[in-house]
Amino acid sequence: MKIRDILNRGKPSVSFEVFPPKADAPFGPVRDAVTQLAAMKPTFISVTYGASGNAQANTAEIASFVQACGTPALAHLTCLTSSRDRIAEEVSTLKANGIENILCLRGDYPRQTAGAVPADATPNDFAHAVDLVRALRPSDFCLGGACYPECHPECGHIQDDIAHLKEKVDAGLDFLTTQMFFDNNVYFHYLARLRTAGITVPVLAGIMPVVNGKQIDRICRLSGTVLPPRFRAIVDRFGDDPASMLDAGVAYATEQIIDLFANGVDAVHIYTMNKPEVAGRIMVNLRGILS
Ligand code: FAD
Repeated sequence: MKIRDILNRGKPSVSFEVFPPKADAPFGPVRDAVTQLAAMKPTFISVTYGASGNAQANTAEIASFVQACGTPALAHLTCLTSSRDRIAEEVSTLKANGIENILCLRGDYPRQTAGAVPADATPNDFAHAVDLVRALRPSDFCLGGACYPECHPECGHIQDDIAHLKEKVDAGLDFLTTQMFFDNNVYFHYLARLRTAGITVPVLAGIMPVVNGKQIDRICRLSGTVLPPRFRAIVDRFGDDPASMLDAGVAYATEQIIDLFANGVDAVHIYTMNKPEVAGRIMVNLRGILS
């Protein structure tokens, strides 16, 4: 099923993100997580696309497993280090697996030290995600893209970032999903700016339940996400105590989601980090709202 049709129903939507196993890692734990997540009846489950060649094949396999669990899948696809032929191969694999939804991404530049550029990479084929959207749009896939309420870290000014985003949407995107944010006002202000800029597609709010206080500073540094003082206090107080951090992280994410729904947002995407127990606790808290 196409995500644009799901979003058009106008009902509150909660979807999940999972990541596939890394190259040579077993599929079992990820399949178990997907099985449990699918049982919570999200509107769809997205599957990230890894940086290294071997792991990339796992995206299609896990996306296919998501659909076997009866849940529509959204396969992420990055283009920066891929040739046109490589992208064509990936897309035909997705099609063969019955995947109807693709999140069109540029990806990050491989770290020099990692030596991660595949031998067949011709990075000039796709400089930005918009180039991937243009390559895929003639098809009937439902296409999504990423957006950044606190500005993409490489872009000097949010105005320029939104102008680039408009170009990407106009190339044929059906919806957007935001980078995580911890202050809903950031999302509301950003959405207003997108609408003013003429971007009218649904903008799924990306919510990251933080249950590991130790990782959050690194994640925020890399993504350019600001940790508001109220959440900073939670991490400072409970970050070293996993049980308390789990309670606090679930409560904070739940509160964010309820506030978003209360203020007219229709679709929330939860970065589950393959942790069904965390997503499950949030879904229990939302039982009445989603029923
Ligand atoms: P783009 O839309 O190309 O934007 C990247 C930068 O280029 C921005 O600064 C933008 O302003 C600028 N830009 C865009 N167009 C132009 C132009 N025409 N001229 C000049 N500048 C321009 N990474 C993964 O590796 N795998 C994943 O599965 C994955 N999933 C993600 C899911 C979501 C919801 C999000 C928010 C991010 C995800 N990422 C993933 C990370 C993403 O790949 C990085 O954030 C990457 O740096 C940018 O990707 P993009 O598709 O937003 O790029």
